[in-house]
Amino acid sequence: MSDPVILVVDDDPQVLAAIRRDLRSRYREDYRVLAADSGEAALDTVRELKSRGDTLAMMISDQRMPVMLGVDVLRKCREVYPLARRVMLTAYSDIDAAIRAINEAHLDHYLEKPWDPPEERLFPVVDDLLASWRVEHRPEFVGLRLIGHQWSPRSHGIKDFLASNLIPYRWLEVGRDQNTGALLEAAGVDENELPVLFLEDGTVLRDLDIQQVAKKLGLTLTAAHNLYDVIIVGAGPAGLAAAVYGASEGMRTLLLDGHGPGGQAGTSSRIENYLGFPTGVSGGELTRRAVVQARRLGAEILCPVAVTGLTVKGGYKHLTLSDGGELVARTVIAATGMTYRELPAEGIAELSGAGIYYGAPMTEANACRNGRIVVVGGGNSAGQSAVYLSRYASEVNLVIRRAGLDETMSRYLIDQLGELSNVRIRSRMIVERVEGEGRLERVWLKSLDSGDIVLQEAHALFIFIGTRPHSHWLPTTVLRDSRGFVLTGRDTSSDSAQFARIWKETREPMPLETTVPGVFAAGDLRAGAMNRVASAVGEGSMAIRLVHEYLMLT
Ligand SMILES: Cc1cc2nc3c(=O)[nH]c(=O)nc-3n(C[C@H](O)[C@H](O)[C@H](O)COP(=O)(O)OP(=O)(O)OC[C@H]3O[C@@H](n4cnc5c(N)ncnc54)[C@H](O)[C@@H]3O)c2cc1C
Repeated sequence: MSDPVILVVDDDPQVLAAIRRDLRSRYREDYRVLAADSGEAALDTVRELKSRGDTLAMMISDQRMPVMLGVDVLRKCREVYPLARRVMLTAYSDIDAAIRAINEAHLDHYLEKPWDPPEERLFPVVDDLLASWRVEHRPEFVGLRLIGHQWSPRSHGIKDFLASNLIPYRWLEVGRDQNTGALLEAAGVDENELPVLFLEDGTVLRDLDIQQVAKKLGLTLTAAHNLYDVIIVGAGPAGLAAAVYGASEGMRTLLLDGHGPGGQAGTSSRIENYLGFPTGVSGGELTRRAVVQARRLGAEILCPVAVTGLTVKGGYKHLTLSDGGELVARTVIAATGMTYRELPAEGIAELSGAGIYYGAPMTEANACRNGRIVVVGGGNSAGQSAVYLSRYASEVNLVIRRAGLDETMSRYLIDQLGELSNVRIRSRMIVERVEGEGRLERVWLKSLDSGDIVLQEAHALFIFIGTRPHSHWLPTTVLRDSRGFVLTGRDTSSDSAQFARIWKETREPMPLETTVPGVFAAGDLRAGAMNRVASAVGEGSMAIRLVHEYLMLT
């Protein structure tokens, strides 16, 4: 297969030749750099590439061109290659227009002319965009292949596990992808053994469970030491940040996650408000970077390893694990976050994982191609998912209880939704019940005003309604609020009698410390958390500083 393409478009022959030359000088080993002198020529090239089965990694287009503006060329390019990175080339005087276009047409970046020296002003941007494209792009590769039925909850669980551990795989759906029949027959796999995983060396794993897959893929599941300075439970943004800081400060640091790194943020298709990523970053990419950083600095990461309990003996914290094992640490940071609440409608539990998903739009987006889908919830995560899924689905129905989104969703997302012709806001509605043979097919929506019930055909339903903390593994001596979120710092004494019964130190709890000395909580698990990637990262980093102080005290 030929190298992926970077296509540059400019009607000024000198600029075109210059950018093509610079890009070739750096990327010709891995990419073909093609040039087009007009928007029409560029779109012809895009169509030709598609018909040949070639891959477009990036299009860089000048904005001011006769006949067709750069933003329109880039917009049309997205219809053919949705994953290709799209960059606008612009003069200093047009930067405001470029930033507007980034928001309106979902461009990935802009580059300012002239871009000299390219080592500082061109290559870092292009490097970054190509790196994120490579993460999302799934080439025709001969690595892991997972074969199963689209609407099987077990297939969904394995897909979710592989994706959250950043393991590249190819999903092959029985009855839809060619050659699956031949592949299964050659390996002697019966349809009722699905899903199965074909490893690169030809081994076939049947009767899949996550532990077995993790072991086979060589993921580390046992700790290297008997005692750690800090064990961080949960590898979402808070846990990952704590691991980076703990390791960088020379502490013996272990990070555990029951699933895979990334947490809720890992399921986000595009985080637009995290500092330092002006055009947004996918949760997968942010996680990949954080994991590499934490490991490079010396943190140990074990996934999937779930913690089921915590006891304290002589000041040492003993963590019990789901496989029966035990780990010991001087301090613990609880960063186990939260999940979405279950939707209380008839039929939901039966079809969960078979067309009904809590979060997880990225792993299932392909299955929604040209289908109708329903997203339930009025918050930012529901809005973000609706925007993302609108690229795949023919129709996205966003079901909300309120009359509008103003009170629950950020303005930029409301604006983006307003511009998408295939997104329909179904306000003052709830899901009454769902139905389907083996997978979701129909959703019955009830109007909160008239009580009328309407049928909505749907391939998938994504739920984002309220949250539940993962605090069950903590002992009862860790005080929580009425919803189960963990109290820390000054909040611990809101019920003074209970606090006095549990807290026996002569000092006050430190800011992120729970009512068990040396056990800290960070991120969404904490009562009063801000529920943002940046605040979780901030708290995770801050927790390490407090761990340090605690270790000096003991
Ligand atoms: C779809 C979506 C989009 C979002 N978009 C944005 C955005 O654009 N901007 C923004 O700022 N925020 C966004 N958020 C919110 C943000 O992702 C969260 O605030 C953030 O992830 C919280 O981080 P955390 O580390 O505290 O917890 P989480 O991300 O919840 O991570 C907790 C981790 O703990 C693990 N865990 C749980 N229990 C155990 C156990 N017993 N043992 C071991 N491991 C355990 C879980 O597997 C998980 O990996 C979004 C959330 C979602 C769901």
